[in-house]
Amino acid sequence: MAIKITDDCINCGACEPECPNKAIYEGAYEWSWKDKTTVSGKITLPDGKIINSDEVNDALSDEVYYIVPGKCTECKGFHDEPQCKAVCPVDCCIDDPDHRESDDILFERQKFLHH
Ligand code: SF4
Ligand code: SF4
Repeated sequence: MAIKITDDCINCGACEPECPNKAIYEGAYEWSWKDKTTVSGKITLPDGKIINSDEVNDALSDEVYYIVPGKCTECKGFHDEPQCKAVCPVDCCIDDPDHRESDDILFERQKFLHH
């Protein structure tokens, strides 16, 4: 499943550079599919949705760092464990119960983001 950041985040910024997919953004900052990935232009997401990967999207949190679920692969394909969880000093990177995905789906997402 994807990882989520809770309101306990102290905005230290330690997790952001560790994410191989740039799925983590500082609160209030806009996010994009193309950041730190190989996707570009109009693309079809693994779930069939067609989007423009060059567009910037509204922040998912205004207060604390946040994770874009569709970009999180739980670090599959890069590391043995979620790097944000490993470095977070207050243990506020937790499994996201709203985004439970199999390893197959996470590996497929990793290939989609870095093809
Ligand atoms: S688990 Fe890995 S891919 Fe997901 S947000 Fe954390 S560092 Fe990024
Ligand atoms: S490492 Fe933890 S406390 Fe620091 S910004 Fe990331 S989620 Fe927030």
